[in-house]
This record gives sequence, C-alpha cells and structure tokens, in this order.
Amino acid sequence: MSQTQLPIRAVIAPVTPLQQNCTIVWCARTLKAAVIDPGGEVPRLMRALADQGLTLEKIWITHGHMDHAGGAAELKRLTGVPIEGPHRDDQFWIDQIQTSGERYGVPEARNFEPDRWLEDGDRVTLGETEFEVYHCPGHTPGHVVFFHREARFAQVGDVLFQGSIGRTDFPRGNHQDLLDSITLKLWPLGGDVRFVPGHGPMSSFAAERRSNPYVSDLAIEAQTIAGPDYAIPKNTSPG
Ligand SMILES: [Zn+2]
Ligand SMILES: [Zn+2]
Repeated sequence: MSQTQLPIRAVIAPVTPLQQNCTIVWCARTLKAAVIDPGGEVPRLMRALADQGLTLEKIWITHGHMDHAGGAAELKRLTGVPIEGPHRDDQFWIDQIQTSGERYGVPEARNFEPDRWLEDGDRVTLGETEFEVYHCPGHTPGHVVFFHREARFAQVGDVLFQGSIGRTDFPRGNHQDLLDSITLKLWPLGGDVRFVPGHGPMSSFAAERRSNPYVSDLAIEAQTIAGPDYAIPKNTSPG
C-alpha cells in the first residue's frame, strides 16, 4: 500500500529532557489529529499541529509516567479535547506526575483526570478511522498500546524498544507481565507491524522477534527452558 493511500499519517516529536517520542497521528481524510503521549513542550506541539493544518480531536496516553503524560492537562486546557487512556491501574502514577516533574526538570508537568479510562479490546476513533487498544501491563500496571490495523502501525510506549524492553523495577512493575504483554498481545498482531516506541528509533515486531535480547523467539525459548533462574540481560533502557 502506498503512503498516499494510508488512512493515517504520523509524525514523531521527541519531548522533555527524556526525549520521549510524542507522536502526532491523524486521519488522512479529515485531518483530525490525536497527540499520543504529550509529555511536555506543549507550545511546540501546538505549532506542529498548526504547521500540518491539523485539528486536534483526542489526547491519547499510553501510561502515567511524567515524560509521557506531563503535558496532557495543559494540552487539554488549551484545546478542550478529551484525554483517553491509560488503563485505570495507572491512576497512582498520574497522581505523581507533578512531583516527578519537579524532580526531573519538567516543572510544568501536571496531574490530570482522564475523560475515558481504556480497557483491553477498546477502540478509539479519530476522524473517520479508528485504533485498537491493548492493555499491556508490566512496565506500569495500566499501560496501553494503540494499534491501527490497516496501516500496520502501533504506538507501544515503554513496553518495547528497538533492542530492549521497558524497565520493570518501578512500583507495581512486573517482568513476567511485560514478557506476556509483548509475546501474547503484540506478536499476534503480525511481524509486519511497525512501531513507535516511547524512546529511540522505530522498529518492527519481526525485527524484534529476530534480534531483541529480551524477547526474541530464541530468548523467550531459553527462558522457558531455564525457568526463573535464567539470567536476564541487564536492562539499561530509558524510563
Ligand atoms: Zn518513557
Ligand atoms: Zn515509562
């Protein structure tokens, strides 16, 4: 399928000192846009929307970490559009956004109240198109992933990175939950799916199944054989 026929388009705008991959996606037909994970730098995001001639319709949040969600309250205040996501199990993270913002050099980060909590299997609409929602706990308990089936495109937040996976050493993080989220929720969507991770370059599910040291098919097989004593490679991925 050529780019011009795709029902959605996307641009990535890294924000905050943590270089979080805020993503602007839009319905190609209506130019209605969603900002996924507006961690901060809201004026810059507003300019990017205007530059592309887009009308903001939704704010979508993968999980409640400050670098992903710190600008959601401000973006909603300026535009009046609803905040959808994450899953309600991330409420305790959203309640700490302002505190972590002060700690990590994003003093304008604010807590917020989502207009809609998301569940596994939900659908979220954008203009004349829609995305599927998958609940993928492990990095945080309420993490969700946004997937556009026809475009073979996913925004996976801090679940999966090129060559790495999300940290699970935070409160209520769980390594096995994360592995299950990746292998049981993401892999079945198809190897040809290209994804934007929360940090770093894009990749595809097929590439990660081949070479990701944590979740390649070989790594998963080794963990299954060796059980819980398998030495997990040291995870140095960003927040
Ligand atoms: Zn992050
Ligand atoms: Zn995170």
